[in-house]
Amino acid sequence: MARLDPEVLEQILSTLREYAGKNLPAETLLEIERRDEFPEKVMKDLTDPGQIGLHLLTIPEEHGGLGGGAYDIYRVSETMAAIDLGVATGVLATFLGTDPINVGGTVDQKAEWLTELAEKGQLYAYGATEPQAGSDLGTLSTVAVPVQENGNVVGYRISGRKQWISNGGVADRYTILANAPGGPSWFLVDKGTPGFSHGKPEDKHGIRASNTAALFLENVCVGADRLIGGVEGRGLAQAQAVFGYTRLMVAAFGLGAGWEALRRAIRYSQERVQGGGPLSTKQGYTHKLIVPNAVRLEAARAYIEWAAERLDGGEDDLATEGAVAKYLATEAGNKAAEDAIQALGGYGYTKEYVVEKIKRDVRITTIYEGTSEIMEWTIARDRWQLHLKSRGRHYLEQADLAEARHAASPSTGSSLAAAALRSLAALLERARLDRLTRNQHVLFRLGELIAYAETAAVFSERAAAAPSTVAGLEPPTLEAMARVHAREAVLKVASDGLRWANGAGQSDPGLARALGLDEALSAQSGLVEDMDRIAADLVRAFPAK
Ligand SMILES: Cc1cc2nc3c(=O)[nH]c(=O)nc-3n(C[C@H](O)[C@H](O)[C@H](O)COP(=O)(O)OP(=O)(O)OC[C@H]3O[C@@H](n4cnc5c(N)ncnc54)[C@H](O)[C@@H]3O)c2cc1C
Repeated sequence: MARLDPEVLEQILSTLREYAGKNLPAETLLEIERRDEFPEKVMKDLTDPGQIGLHLLTIPEEHGGLGGGAYDIYRVSETMAAIDLGVATGVLATFLGTDPINVGGTVDQKAEWLTELAEKGQLYAYGATEPQAGSDLGTLSTVAVPVQENGNVVGYRISGRKQWISNGGVADRYTILANAPGGPSWFLVDKGTPGFSHGKPEDKHGIRASNTAALFLENVCVGADRLIGGVEGRGLAQAQAVFGYTRLMVAAFGLGAGWEALRRAIRYSQERVQGGGPLSTKQGYTHKLIVPNAVRLEAARAYIEWAAERLDGGEDDLATEGAVAKYLATEAGNKAAEDAIQALGGYGYTKEYVVEKIKRDVRITTIYEGTSEIMEWTIARDRWQLHLKSRGRHYLEQADLAEARHAASPSTGSSLAAAALRSLAALLERARLDRLTRNQHVLFRLGELIAYAETAAVFSERAAAAPSTVAGLEPPTLEAMARVHAREAVLKVASDGLRWANGAGQSDPGLARALGLDEALSAQSGLVEDMDRIAADLVRAFPAK
């Protein structure tokens, strides 16, 4: 996949920030939320090709778009989420809604529908979820019955119900997943098609600026040319194929919203004086509420950037990496926003200081596009297969690579990441021998530990070779963050791994040694000093206004 010229990307991001600065100050966003209003004008401006034209980002150049890649989508998604996650969700829904066309449409369908989208800036909605089919889309019950003329299929009559659809009440076009005789398939349906209606906007916990509604389809007739890809039964594969991108997008939402909350807390901590000095100077505050969140968010960023570069380099089978990115970034964003409320004390609990809104908004990111539990399952299931196929070598080989990187760059925690990966290999092997994954909980916990160990390896590698400049932190700070994250990963794999393996009845009395628990505890040496360094740089990077 191509990537935008860096100057073009910067131009889009600065136009977006300028637009938000002028039109979407905090008071306006709070007012939109209070009135529970879908910001139609804002969505129009964002998709107006003459203004920002955000919808052009994912449309290929030959169809009048910008042909942006995964890295560009991540940067724009993060920026949007830092402004308002409800508005960002409206834009995401158009990206999502057009994804089945992007990955599965015929040449003619892409030429017609994507070109029209580029020119008109239509809003799309993506209709997969149903009242009974959420995480398990295989149980979907919306049907597409073929309409035949002279033995040829000339169209379909679609009937069923969709639930929780972003832009559901406001979109111009909808991609709808329905069961055709050949299996689940995507169809393009226009608003206003007879038999097609939507429910009232859902009364939600957060992202109140986004419209979420149920869809009702009663014998909605569409032509055969509205079957995306022209062949029935490809719907789930097409949905799966876009996960690498869409999960990265939601991961970037977690990152953007989490960082926005944290930036507010860091700034606040420099102005708020308690106990004789600013809160930013109090270790008991920074090392609990600020630093761990910044570390987790930057670990997630490193992983997102790494996965985005691979996608842009032409790899397309990165659904597991998308799951790791989404899982860690959204959980990190959610925790950062939660801690930001605490960091602002009573002020954080009021609407005026905005972190309360961000907390409610970011909560959705661990639910939509696959819940955190489904991510844990996906990660564990896929990597378990790798463990079995490689006869237990997969993570040992990854550990060797990390150890080799440590020799070249000893200050970014690669050796700690290598220890986490080795511990993981031992844990997976013990799980295999004692058949521990018969317990679903153990399998899901493995998903979490895998995500920590993998991000530790990637963060250490990138802190040495390609430190991200996006958050505005100094390279030595990123190195310290990579060490802190790797220390957390190595201890988590060893201690949580032992906990759940013992809990599920594992049989090796020497498992603590095999997992390197003592070494993982010793590896914590230097932790507080690294956190001090990170806390100091966060204050430098985000001074009080
Ligand atoms: C605001 C909002 C916007 C949305 N936008 C869209 C959209 O635009 N398009 C769209 O198609 N969908 C959309 N969704 C739907 C969203 O993707 C689903 O809500 C999500 O996938 C979870 O499905 P569910 O709500 O049915 O929960 P369920 O699948 O019922 O899950 C409930 C709980 O059970 C857990 N769980 C589920 N299965 C298992 C299992 N096998 N083992 C263990 N635990 C399990 C889940 O992790 C979760 O904690 C949106 C949802 C919301 C709330």
